[in-house]
Amino acid sequence: MFVNLSFFSLNKLSCFIHTHKDHLPKMHKKNLVYKINCKDCNASYVGQTKRTLKTRITEHKNDIRKNNGNLSVISEHRLNFNHEFDWDNTEIVDSERWFYRRRIAEMLHIKLQNNNLNLQSDTEFLHNSYLPILDTLK
Ligand SMILES: [Zn+2]
Repeated sequence: MFVNLSFFSLNKLSCFIHTHKDHLPKMHKKNLVYKINCKDCNASYVGQTKRTLKTRITEHKNDIRKNNGNLSVISEHRLNFNHEFDWDNTEIVDSERWFYRRRIAEMLHIKLQNNNLNLQSDTEFLHNSYLPILDTLK
């Protein structure tokens, strides 16, 4: 079976590792892949959102106040280890307005973390044909 990898040829890798130099404040940006780092250890979490970073981070922060017992992995890490996240320094690791491509970028960035808190299910749709690209990004 032919798997088309041309989309991921090296000269197109910039699709996944954008560095933006526009002047919109970080927290007001949308359609992005972000990485939140723990302040107290090397754990991190990668997610994507079409809404503003500020809105999404506020959700992550407030998740810990839920009382339905269904806490996020971030809240569990905060509680289990008494660690706090570096919310203000959340990194924008990619920016992509198309959902499908944003999800691919998210999954690649999840895999690139050293100590990721993401659930296995976050990357279960990452096709094997994407894995070689990870080695070139590491
Ligand atoms: Zn931690």
